[in-house]
Amino acid sequence: MNDITIIGGGLVGGTMALGLAQNGFSVTIIDAHKKGSQTKRAFDGRSYALAQATIRMFTVLGLWADLHANAQPILQVKASDGRAGQGPAPWHLHFDHDDLGEGPMGFMVEDRFVRLALSNALNTTPNITQTFGHTVTAQDGGVITLDNGTHIQANLIIGCDGRQSSTAQRAGIKRRVTNYHQTALVCAIDHDLPHNGIAHQFFMPEGPLAILPLPGNRSSIVWSDQTDRAKAINDLPDAEYLEFLRPRFGDFLGDISLTGARFTYPLTLTVASEMTAARMALAGDAAQGVHPIAGQGLNLGLRDVATLVEVVTRAKRRGEDFGAADVLQRYADWRSFDRTTLTTATDGFNRLFSNDNALLRPLRDFGMAAVSAAPNLRRAFMREAAGMSGDIPHLLQGKAL
Ligand SMILES: Cc1cc2nc3c(=O)[nH]c(=O)nc-3n(C[C@H](O)[C@H](O)[C@H](O)COP(=O)(O)OP(=O)(O)OC[C@H]3O[C@@H](n4cnc5c(N)ncnc54)[C@H](O)[C@@H]3O)c2cc1C
Repeated sequence: MNDITIIGGGLVGGTMALGLAQNGFSVTIIDAHKKGSQTKRAFDGRSYALAQATIRMFTVLGLWADLHANAQPILQVKASDGRAGQGPAPWHLHFDHDDLGEGPMGFMVEDRFVRLALSNALNTTPNITQTFGHTVTAQDGGVITLDNGTHIQANLIIGCDGRQSSTAQRAGIKRRVTNYHQTALVCAIDHDLPHNGIAHQFFMPEGPLAILPLPGNRSSIVWSDQTDRAKAINDLPDAEYLEFLRPRFGDFLGDISLTGARFTYPLTLTVASEMTAARMALAGDAAQGVHPIAGQGLNLGLRDVATLVEVVTRAKRRGEDFGAADVLQRYADWRSFDRTTLTTATDGFNRLFSNDNALLRPLRDFGMAAVSAAPNLRRAFMREAAGMSGDIPHLLQGKAL
């Protein structure tokens, strides 16, 4: 019997396994994908804006040493209303890392580098067993059954199996799903002019467009549009796809060209009604999957990781049964405020900004200009986005347990 079984070995499940194993737990990870498939370049086109608190945790876990050479510091964020062909509105929201004095506001890292660093760490950490290419067909308390008939017993199961978490379903946990009828078009571009570490967010009537700096003269584009139109745009050949993209953000980066593949992601908000059940906890998108408008989904999932690792480690050290209901409730309670705030905020922002209402537009512009002009408010937003507000688990403060 191992201590903990993690169902889902994506970025959240993998980081969870690493954090637990480094704190003395024996862990088994089960993932439906075949071994090695998740570290291929074409697997996932996302790049992540990793918050400072995430970087601190990755440093403690030993991941950041492998990542920072391929990471782009985010020095400023500029957000404004925008319309195709008109460029950004004159009033905008501007955050500068100098305002906080804690280094860059975060770092952009491509998915493939995070997965590789994580996979290398998992392969070399004792007490981690990885089972690829299998799904779970049944779960009863701490016992799970795989599709090949194998039974695995543990004191605690952690569901990190994404937005359609079958771990949650098997435990009878309900899920609230809001379909935004939006799809994110994701690609990377090369451009002539330097981005100077500035991330841009344009709130277009159809959905937000983010231009996020990558190392060199490259940027990651996350462009949300209504699903039908996004599908039609994605079906276009590269040259025509670029013709749609260019007028949406103007010429401040000079000439642009596509680099690598294009990807699409349907956008929903999904929130599990509970984070725990008998001998089971959820983390990452399995617990809550948010709109990428604020680049927070993975950071939020990793906050689940830091919290659960701390709760169960402290329980084990005190001699408690770390899979017991009262211990898991501490995890759910600790995560409650942050999870509710972020799911509500990302949903609200997307609704407020993804429309062309003639009354809302000037109000939005005024709101952004007002926040921009209020240094304390600006810093409060920045601390929240950096994961540095509230009762912060040790790993997110850069401290080992
Ligand atoms: C366009 C876009 C841009 C984004 N940008 C950012 C950003 O800048 N910053 C940020 O913080 N977040 C961002 N996010 C959010 C982030 O990508 C997700 O929150 C994160 O990837 C979720 O990771 P996860 O491990 O919880 O889930 P997943 O990545 O969905 O992983 C789930 C894993 O579980 C496995 N699995 C599923 N079902 C089973 C099963 N039955 N049995 C076994 N295994 C199973 C899967 O194979 C997979 O490996 C973005 C999201 C999108 C769509």
